[in-house]
Amino acid sequence: MENMHCLRCNRELGTGNKSVALYMFAQTVGIRPRQKSTAHRISFCPQCSVSLAMGPPPEGALNLAAWDMIRDLVGSDPALNHAAWESLSGVLALLPATGTDGAAGSTQSGGSFEF
Ligand SMILES: [Zn+2]
Repeated sequence: MENMHCLRCNRELGTGNKSVALYMFAQTVGIRPRQKSTAHRISFCPQCSVSLAMGPPPEGALNLAAWDMIRDLVGSDPALNHAAWESLSGVLALLPATGTDGAAGSTQSGGSFEF
């Protein structure tokens, strides 16, 4: 079993991890004998998939084709988005809550919003 890593953030994607896999192979058409390359698998973690899909189109025809496919997945069902948020909330839980307490020296005045 090969070790899969997210192509974008290089996070390890084990068998139990959620990910998006892109399979790619090349094949000759109208040429004899017909040749077929080995299939390659490219993986993205859910966060990178959603982040890529929400981002601007990449440069290059191949990148654009992959981007279209990922956008298709992200746009067709919220499950992938949920998977991305699931693992993201795991990270956020480790961060201190951004409440109003303990904000020493905060220059909040006049009800401005902070993001
Ligand atoms: Zn990633």
